[in-house]
Amino acid sequence: STDLLDALDFAKGDGLLPLIVQHAHDGRVLMLGYANREALEATLRTREIHFWSRSRQRLWRKGETSGHVLELVSIAPDCDGDTLLCQALPAGPTCHLGTPTCFDAATPAHPWLNELEALIAARANADPASSYVARLLAAPLARRAQKVGEEGVETALAAVGGDAAKLREEAADLLFHLLVLLRGSDLSLADVVGELARRRAPKAPDRVA
Ligand code: AMP
Ligand code: ZN
Ligand code: ZN
Ligand code: ZN
Repeated sequence: STDLLDALDFAKGDGLLPLIVQHAHDGRVLMLGYANREALEATLRTREIHFWSRSRQRLWRKGETSGHVLELVSIAPDCDGDTLLCQALPAGPTCHLGTPTCFDAATPAHPWLNELEALIAARANADPASSYVARLLAAPLARRAQKVGEEGVETALAAVGGDAAKLREEAADLLFHLLVLLRGSDLSLADVVGELARRRAPKAPDRVA
């Protein structure tokens, strides 16, 4: 944590550096606040994000009244140490207006993947005659499981065959059918990414992910 503090140029920001908070699982920007040395030390010590409230002129533990704390996952300075970016897991809506993020237009790290996931979910109520996804979702689970198996084998064969374009296509097929399978089993992409993130070897909290 002294490494991080040493890398920061507090003087440049009059003792206050912008701190951008991203959702640790999907990369959405949750909010922007300001941190002084005290707030940063409190964040590193408690693993809950603290800011310096400019309106109240005091240390502010995000969630202190709402309970919607931000659990620190990782934090790092920018190229010249005058801004901080951190990844966190929110305990509830981050915005005081009750929305998950303070930015209406916040997009996840892979916006299209999330859009595709939403599109697949919407097809659950569509007429099976009108859509391939609706048919897959209406079919028995074994059908969706079979598709993932087939596409998995096709992906493996394409990789062994050494054809990069074919591998890209089959990997896309696999990912698409995996999203359909997950949807049918009430799991989301974020659930899966969260599982991967939990497996990540523990790291010092002040290092880049
Ligand atoms: P909280 O820290 O969530 O307990 O909220 C305490 C107070 O901080 C709220 O009443 C708001 O005035 C303010 N606040 C909370 N979250 C935000 C936010 N994301 N952006 C700006 N102000 C906030
Ligand atoms: Zn900078
Ligand atoms: Zn807000
Ligand atoms: Zn295929």
